[in-house]
Amino acid sequence: MKTIIIKFGGSSLADPGRIRRAAAMVLGERRRGLRPVAVVSAPADCTDDLLKLASLAGGASLSRRETDALLAAGEQMSAALLALALQAEGAPAVSLTGAQAGIKTDDAFSAASVTSVNAGRLRRELAAGRIPVVAGFQGVSPAGDITTLGRGGSDLSAVVLARALKAGRCDFRTDVKGIYTAHPALIPAARKIPALSYGEVIALAELGTEVRQLRAVKYSARHGIALHLRSSFHDEPGTLVTREGGRAGVSCLSLKKEGGMALVSVIGRRLGALQLAKALAAAGALCAGKPACSPGAITLRVPAPSGEALLKKLHAAFF
Ligand code: ASP
Ligand code: MG
Repeated sequence: MKTIIIKFGGSSLADPGRIRRAAAMVLGERRRGLRPVAVVSAPADCTDDLLKLASLAGGASLSRRETDALLAAGEQMSAALLALALQAEGAPAVSLTGAQAGIKTDDAFSAASVTSVNAGRLRRELAAGRIPVVAGFQGVSPAGDITTLGRGGSDLSAVVLARALKAGRCDFRTDVKGIYTAHPALIPAARKIPALSYGEVIALAELGTEVRQLRAVKYSARHGIALHLRSSFHDEPGTLVTREGGRAGVSCLSLKKEGGMALVSVIGRRLGALQLAKALAAAGALCAGKPACSPGAITLRVPAPSGEALLKKLHAAFF
């Protein structure tokens, strides 16, 4: 039976109704014949609230060890709640901390690196027919202390477990349906992209749109872990991220504000003179400076107030 990692973002676990919906999605994968392992973020805003609490109690210079111990509690809460929701549906589920799931790290509190994964416990739980629900964002240091993996670190937890368990796929269930040709809030006509390569997702992050934790995407690229970025509201396909990705050419646009300037990037694979000419024609008088070009991205710089107008023109030209 194939193992699948299903990672839920914090907004997908923000209240009991959403936690029950997440449980239903996990059970859906099980009905489809897969062996699910859930990985969870802290409920929406929980990590920020805990950070505020830490400074209220501890002042300006906080011990990083204690801060990690505090922050890890958010994900542990989600894990226990999702396990309870699964059990309420009659499914045998077991919540695990990062340490219980065998995620070993160095001792760089607040931004620890994963050094190894001992998946023995997870394999035993799976063999016993249980659904493990792992608290993301955390591991254990050589001294046995709780560490956290940096903001967005539950993504990294999900992919390291995908590799350790040789999972066929790692699904990211969030409140967005996938990656779009441009930010839908700025470009209502933006379309969901069915498939992208790791390189394109990394370029997007570097050029202003981090859709998943960059560390986790780079790790997946190194180890060839297929990522499926999709909605936690329904089972429609989202965006599949693999080595091959979709077709070559322009795949999406990104906007990044930097000082008084806006950087608008055309991202894709094997971009060249054709795409550059098209971008410049669409930009017209808006764009004054020299564009930055690579096979993965063409970036135009304009004064910040013109950024969105340029994004619209480029979107109309390419999609
Ligand atoms: N809860 C942590 C954060 O907000 C980790 C995560 O969500 O991945 O950064
Ligand atoms: Mg979070």
